[in-house]
Amino acid sequence: MAKDHGFVIGIDLGTTYSCVAVWKEQHCRVEIIHNDQGNNTTPSCVAFTTHERLIGDSAKNQAATNPENTIFDAKRLIGRRYSDHVVQKDILLWSFKVIAGTNDKPMIVINYKNQEKYLSAEEVSSMILTKMREIAENYLESPVKNAVVTVPAYFNNSQRKATIDAGAIAGLNVVRIINEPTAAAIAYGLDKRTNCVGERNIFIFDFGGGTFDVSLLTIKDKVFQVKATAGNTHLGGEDIDNRMVNYFVEEMKRKNKVDISGNPRALRRLRTACERAKRTLSYAVTTNIEVDAIFQGIDLCSSITRAKFEEINMKLFEECMNTVERCLSDAKMDKSSVHDVVLVGGSSRIPKVQQLLQDYFKGKDLCKSINPDEAVAYGAAVQAALLSEGIKNVPNLVLLDVTPLSLGKDIVGDIMSVVIPRNTTIPVKRTKEYMTIEDNQPSTRIKVYEGERTRASDNNLLGSFVLSGFPRVPRGHAFCVTFALDENSILSVSAEDKTTGSKNEIIITNDRERLSTVEINRMIQEAEYYKAEDEKFLRKAKTMNDLDYYIYKIGNALKNEDIMSKLCSQEKEDISSTISRARDLLDVDGNIQQDEIVDFEYCLKELINIFERLTEIGNVG
Ligand code: AMP
Repeated sequence: MAKDHGFVIGIDLGTTYSCVAVWKEQHCRVEIIHNDQGNNTTPSCVAFTTHERLIGDSAKNQAATNPENTIFDAKRLIGRRYSDHVVQKDILLWSFKVIAGTNDKPMIVINYKNQEKYLSAEEVSSMILTKMREIAENYLESPVKNAVVTVPAYFNNSQRKATIDAGAIAGLNVVRIINEPTAAAIAYGLDKRTNCVGERNIFIFDFGGGTFDVSLLTIKDKVFQVKATAGNTHLGGEDIDNRMVNYFVEEMKRKNKVDISGNPRALRRLRTACERAKRTLSYAVTTNIEVDAIFQGIDLCSSITRAKFEEINMKLFEECMNTVERCLSDAKMDKSSVHDVVLVGGSSRIPKVQQLLQDYFKGKDLCKSINPDEAVAYGAAVQAALLSEGIKNVPNLVLLDVTPLSLGKDIVGDIMSVVIPRNTTIPVKRTKEYMTIEDNQPSTRIKVYEGERTRASDNNLLGSFVLSGFPRVPRGHAFCVTFALDENSILSVSAEDKTTGSKNEIIITNDRERLSTVEINRMIQEAEYYKAEDEKFLRKAKTMNDLDYYIYKIGNALKNEDIMSKLCSQEKEDISSTISRARDLLDVDGNIQQDEIVDFEYCLKELINIFERLTEIGNVG
């Protein structure tokens, strides 16, 4: 239960976009909260310039001119090590630099106010969470301390804990981490207000900007259980945009005899036009693509039909459908047993995707009454309301989790022997029997791994311990190994030789990859620093705007001959010197210090006084 009074918000912390929602008790419904631009989703993007830090739309909008200091996709780094092959692959695609920090932690290198700084993924995510909290606070006109944050169902223990740490740095108490597909299912459960009779199987199809995830959930007696997940962490709307870009690059080669593929600016403009066209093709059967003077003064003026769009992206769509099949076969469930298919993520609006999915599920209606960009935040807000004190009108739901990855130990030949298969509901306890492999073997080392690879050392090593005290007997002496996962995903592994009673155990909490309290406190302080800097920048920007405004107003007033005739020459001189001082201040480069802001504000005060005096003279006249 969230003890603090006030709202508990639901945050969908997405790879490309984030969304925040809240349960409004007086209206008995969830409200999706729009940001300062009026958008319901905010880019998960943070940028640093020589003057300021930007988060959300403002960061994304300047990305093309400041690529090495614009960070997106921080979620792909969270809770991972630098040497992780996924991280190594992602780094190749990013325009910002990532290096290995202490304990192999990936650190993002940025330049802020002409100084090099190192940021962890948790810090970047905390900046996005702070932005989402501010969006909620502005709307609710009240401070917000508690949040439910969603994560992909396949996130492992350290990724979940790192997300909680990101919340702590943002000054948020993360009261619960829930799976994104579970949140989407909650959103629909609430929408329909049905009390499920028996078991209901729900298939969640989440096709976003950069990732594709499918999950199979069951709801029984209001208990949500993730049965299986599958997906592709690098398949989304951006890949569709890329294919469209390539199509038009080839078309320009053919029609205009130019190759724009080496020109980043032209490609960027083309990508924006393609993304817009893609959205149009979700409701129209043909659309135009127009980019003025895209390259060497040539205009791109073309069109694309929905059929062509589908043809060039068919491979991606087929990949989606293969993943759907894999998920069902993992869950050992026939597609005819699926009761509901829920669409999540902006790319699930594509008609061909919907058609393939509907055909696969033999014409079943797809759940799309909730905006797919908002369904996850919607469900998180319902869960948040459930965890808040004093909220009565939400249905009571219980969430059950599963292990996102198989857990096991190595056996002879570096083979992974799985003890708890992935997608097993937790809490769980499983015991397996193993044998010694040598005659008179005195002890054995038990290495605990998580992952799906057959070769144990290709998986993630979580820890190891030794079981000793075996009797001097030929090989094949049996001992038991027990894996137990509690409801907080804390894993303990024990081993026992029943003949001698010898025992040993290890508890794995993944704390090695977590931030220490000292580090979190340091990051909280840095977050305060960034906040203070942002406020300073805003104060300066506002003063400069006001200076400009009053220079203009005074200039207009001085055009009035009546006013001029009532001013003595000393007054005229004072006004002109104050205005030229204000103009000089406006000409100064933006990187001013705190004490200089005081100069700006002092000058502004003088201008306001002058303007008031001129208005007075004008009115008297
Ligand atoms: P999400 O990450 O869920 O916010 O999804 C964002 C992705 O959805 C981006 O790649 C968008 O281009 C894509 N998208 C949004 N609306 C549409 C639409 N109407 N048709 C096709 N794709 C869309």
